[in-house]
Amino acid sequence: MTAITTSVFELFKIGPGPSSSHTIGPMKAGYNFNRTVADLALEVQPDNIEIRLYGSLSATGEGHGTDRAVVAGLLGFKPDNVECDFLDSLADGNPHQFKSGVISLPLSVKDVVFAEVKNDFPYANTLLLRLRKGEEILFEQEYYSIGGGFIKWKGQQEEIPRVPPHQYSNMEELKAILTENELRMHQAILANETAISGISKDEVYEKLDVILDAMKEAVRNGLAAEGTLPGPIGLHRKAKRLFDNSVRPNCADSFLLRLNAYGFAASEENAAGHIVVTAPTSGSAGVIPAAVFALEEELGISRENVRQGMLVAAAIGFIAKHNASIAGAEVGCQGEIGVASAMAAGLIAYANGNRFWRTENAAESALEHHLGITCDPVGGYVQIPCIERNAMGVVRAYNAYLIASVENEKFHKVSFDEVVQAMAETGKDMNSKYKETSLGGLAVSVPNC
Ligand code: SF4
Repeated sequence: MTAITTSVFELFKIGPGPSSSHTIGPMKAGYNFNRTVADLALEVQPDNIEIRLYGSLSATGEGHGTDRAVVAGLLGFKPDNVECDFLDSLADGNPHQFKSGVISLPLSVKDVVFAEVKNDFPYANTLLLRLRKGEEILFEQEYYSIGGGFIKWKGQQEEIPRVPPHQYSNMEELKAILTENELRMHQAILANETAISGISKDEVYEKLDVILDAMKEAVRNGLAAEGTLPGPIGLHRKAKRLFDNSVRPNCADSFLLRLNAYGFAASEENAAGHIVVTAPTSGSAGVIPAAVFALEEELGISRENVRQGMLVAAAIGFIAKHNASIAGAEVGCQGEIGVASAMAAGLIAYANGNRFWRTENAAESALEHHLGITCDPVGGYVQIPCIERNAMGVVRAYNAYLIASVENEKFHKVSFDEVVQAMAETGKDMNSKYKETSLGGLAVSVPNC
């Protein structure tokens, strides 16, 4: 098994909601295409771009805003520098000018084709971007949105190998490294990050602070907002009402209500297409921010402890991604909310001063109790069941931490690696209609609103 070489900042990314595989990934693909064609020596100048979306990008791309995201990327925007208002404005279908090298042509969301949901590409969520002159295809590139905003493309050159000092592919190997080198978990991940990103430890912490502040900002924005979310469902925001209920005199459930409120808050911001942090995806962007907000604002945990917990949460996400998937389109919602919940449980445990095995136990427990959960967003919008599921994910993470805190290592039966393996197998057996296509489950049984 190859070693994990993903950067913490490839996992935690700031960008617009509502679905990293449907917005951030396609926007990155569009941007990459813009940069790639700048160097083409074409004999004939193209006069249009064809954008073909496959898999769940086709099935639920309209509800997720994939058409706007890919067009914004083609126009030269990246997830961390695009304005939400500009993205929204693309929906009107008015053409903008695509420019790259000597190529200049009109482009709008009307150039997007929602193609076959079932397909034979190596990854279900595929984008085919074509430069055309009339019907003639002058150049095309096949991109894959593989979850969490990560992309690959056909014929992609191998990157210069990243060589982190601590090479592991699963939790068992990471544990052996920690024991052999007498390291704490965050120390190993921090050392790896400096090697992978080529930046100092102080710079890693500075970047982590930007991520943490963006997470808390999303929670604050969600707690302040009221009204309905975009789209035909007309779903009412609930975060502020949950928070308001929690501060009533003599409220017996105040912490639980606020934890739910924080989970709703960032997730509702995501559903509104506002700026969130993938953690590990946009669909699950409410879980870890809620945990971070509770740790710092409710429980008085220091920023230093939370930074360390975030490095540990990243390692948990890496292992899940490396050995299974973090994409609803690949393994169902267990890969998004389940992994987010596991990462949050590890973060809470570690930030509270627990060492490796209790942290691993908390993460294992949180993921174990999400196994088999399908992805079936109603109407293709990341709203039902997604928003409540984020709140459930953080509550379950906290519960997993509480249960792990009384666990005796000698009697511990299930490892994190075993649960990740079970998630991968369950995902393989899951019918494709439960993988972000909105062709099964709640998306069918709930009348389309
Ligand atoms: S059901 Fe889960 S995996 Fe599917 S879009 Fe919603 S949050 Fe993401």
